[in-house]
Amino acid sequence: MSAPSICVVGSINLDMNAYVERFPRPGETLHGRRFTTGYGGKGANQAVMAARLGAKVSMVGRIGGDIFGHDMRRNLESEGICTDFVRESKGVSSGVAVITIDEQGQNQIIVIPGANGLVTAADVEEAQAAITGAQVLLCQMEVPMEANLAALRIARNAGVTTIFNSAPVSSEVPEEVYRLSDIFCPNESEAELLTGVPVHTLDDARLAASMIVTRGARAALITLGAQGCLYVTADQEEHVPAPRVKAVDTTGAGDAFVGSLAHFLAAGLPVLEAIARANAIAAISVQHPGTQASYPRRADLPETLLR
Ligand code: ADP
Repeated sequence: MSAPSICVVGSINLDMNAYVERFPRPGETLHGRRFTTGYGGKGANQAVMAARLGAKVSMVGRIGGDIFGHDMRRNLESEGICTDFVRESKGVSSGVAVITIDEQGQNQIIVIPGANGLVTAADVEEAQAAITGAQVLLCQMEVPMEANLAALRIARNAGVTTIFNSAPVSSEVPEEVYRLSDIFCPNESEAELLTGVPVHTLDDARLAASMIVTRGARAALITLGAQGCLYVTADQEEHVPAPRVKAVDTTGAGDAFVGSLAHFLAAGLPVLEAIARANAIAAISVQHPGTQASYPRRADLPETLLR
């Protein structure tokens, strides 16, 4: 069988982490303790996760005309991801997150979307063959909605399974996005922002998920952190628990989950089995520090998690 094939439309970012004793006051210069960079952006994270599991992944997005852009493209390529549809926006910065972390572990984060904000419907239409040739399309909310809508329409017309990860929620999600989503996937706080239902318990999640289905999604999948996730359709409802593990860093867990889910669905697993395995992969990622750095590779996984 050929490798499962996935197209990801989404963001590509560089995280810049400055570790300081305390946050500087306005106008003050401080010496920090340490500086690290990390590859990020929800689109890129999900693409990397799926590629590490063995999927053939194509990324649609934009990088800036700066050194970070070139570096981020190289990172995607080093994971075996096709970047033919990653365009460069000259004269604009790449997407970056400037993160300051103090001794208490508190952070201050400035996200500059840069080139991610310039992804257009036309970019997506040029990548039509990458979408229609995939089994699964993945979209999130860090590129303009017009790009997501264009991708979702192409995928739905071609019978490609669509997963819309409503993260981060910064604006209303158009009704059409729900209707074009085979799986609409928020976390608890995103589900609350979208539905107005505070999600603290499984019953709350059931209510929020059913509202998402009523809006037109074929399925709602709410991730619940250590509790796993809840899958709801018009006639089915399943809580799929996550393995119990000791979490050390949950940054990027949602992206590990969504990228893995896309892989297992594209590989042809039934949806509940795909969700259970995505929980297992995300649970591995939370036991290691970093975002992409915490995502396991196929070679590190037990046979029971491979497909
Ligand atoms: P986000 O990172 O978007 O906030 P969640 O916190 O809901 O998303 O986590 C996404 C997925 O990661 C969960 O559905 C689960 O599979 C896994 N996960 C997150 N935290 C833990 C944990 N403490 N133990 C086990 N699995 C976890």
